[in-house]
Amino acid sequence: MSRDSLLADLRVAPGHGPGLLDRDPGERVGASSKKEGAARLAEVVERLGVLHNRLYAEASRSVLLVLQGMDASGKDGVIRSVFTGLNPQGCRVQSFKAPSPVELAHDFLWRVHQVCPARGEIVIFNRSHYEDIVAVRVRKLAEEKVWGKRYDHIRGFEKLLTDEGTTVVKVFLHVSRDEQRVRLQERLDDPEKRWKFRPGDLDDRALWDEFSVAYEDVLGETSTKAAPWYVVPADHNWSRNLAVAGILVAALEEIDPKLPEPVIEPTTIT
Ligand code: AMP
Ligand code: MG
Repeated sequence: MSRDSLLADLRVAPGHGPGLLDRDPGERVGASSKKEGAARLAEVVERLGVLHNRLYAEASRSVLLVLQGMDASGKDGVIRSVFTGLNPQGCRVQSFKAPSPVELAHDFLWRVHQVCPARGEIVIFNRSHYEDIVAVRVRKLAEEKVWGKRYDHIRGFEKLLTDEGTTVVKVFLHVSRDEQRVRLQERLDDPEKRWKFRPGDLDDRALWDEFSVAYEDVLGETSTKAAPWYVVPADHNWSRNLAVAGILVAALEEIDPKLPEPVIEPTTIT
C-alpha cells in the first residue's frame, strides 16, 4: 500500500466521525513485521532530520504535532522515537498537565498559544487544548455550556495558526482497553516505570466508555482540511511509531521547506 493511501486511511475525513469502534487498534500499519518496521523507521527518521534542517534554515514556517490518546497509549514512546531524528535546536516537546490556578484564571487557550511553535520549529504537544474538551467533559470539571463551545473555538484557533504559517497535524493514538490494562499493570510491576502511574489512571480507566464517546465526538468535530486528525493504531509500539513519523514526514514534504540562497559561492578555503 502506498504511503498516501495509508495516510488517507488513517485520516479522519472532515465532517465525519472517526468511527473508532470500527478501527482496529491492533492493526500493523506500514510494515508487516517488527524487523521490517524498524528498518523503515530508521529511513523515515533520517528523512525527517533532513526536512527539519531545511525547515529550521528557512525559518519562515513551523509544524505543530498534537498527540492525544488514553493513558498508556504511547505518547511518550512516540516522542522518544520520532525525536531521535531531530536536531534539539529547533524542536520542543510541550506537555500539558492539569491547569494551575493561574492558568484556570484565564481562557483555556491562554497557556496553549504562548507555547505554539515559532517559525522554523517543530513542536510536539504531549496532550493539548483537547484536554479542555475531553477531560473536562468526562470528569465533569465544567458544564456542557462551557466545553461545548470549545469545538468552535479550537477550529478557529487552529485556523489562525495555519493561516499564519504553522502546519497543524493531530494524532490520536488508538489503544485497546485490553492493551491498556497490560501496560498499566506493567507500570505498577516495574520499579523503573512505577513513577508514571497515577492513582487517577484507574479512575480514568473506569471511565473508558465515556472517554471513547468524548474522543469520537471531538475528532469528528475538529478534523478539518487545514488541521486534520489521524487515528493511529497503537497496540503495537513499532508500527505506531512508524505511522506517526510517516505522518510528520508527509506534513513536512507538503510544506517543502527551502534552504536559503547561499550567501557565498563555494570556494577553497586556504
Ligand atoms: P500525564 O500526561 O499522564 O502526565 O497526565 C497529565 C494529566 O493532566 C492527565 O490526566 C490529563 O487529563 C490532565 N490534564 C491535562 N490538561 C488538562 C486540562 N486542560 N484539564 C484537565 N485535565 C488536564
Ligand atoms: Mg499518565
